[in-house]
Amino acid sequence: MLYDTGNIFAKILRGEIPCNKVYEDEFALAFHDINPQAPVHVLVIPKGAYVSMADFTADAPADLITGFFRAVGTVANQLGLVESGYRTLANAGADAHQEVPHLHIHIFGGKPLGPMLVKGH
Ligand code: 5GP
Repeated sequence: MLYDTGNIFAKILRGEIPCNKVYEDEFALAFHDINPQAPVHVLVIPKGAYVSMADFTADAPADLITGFFRAVGTVANQLGLVESGYRTLANAGADAHQEVPHLHIHIFGGKPLGPMLVKGH
């Protein structure tokens, strides 16, 4: 899938629309989800034009891959979730209902989160 430079997270990275930032370094930006699904719901995105995990891990330079995943851990720590627990999730493509075509890892926490997926499928 070709990267769409007009997607909402690309606009956030370019500073064209605001976000409620929780962390930023040279590799990643983290901000609160606009429609939180848990008491803590933060998105971490890499600073690069990648749609999802497949193109990111295939095409991104090693320092960006390292920096991005390190940022996910740093943010979980910064949010105070390491002791209590948290969930990370990255949707990719139609079956996963990915809405924004820029790689992002959701961090959920702040309460017991229940089973990982809706049962019955
Ligand atoms: P996906 O379904 O692609 O994994 O998740 C996209 C997430 O981005 C959703 O949880 C949605 O609430 C969030 N989101 C969509 N637009 C915006 C926005 O403009 N700002 C922020 N902070 N989050 C957004």
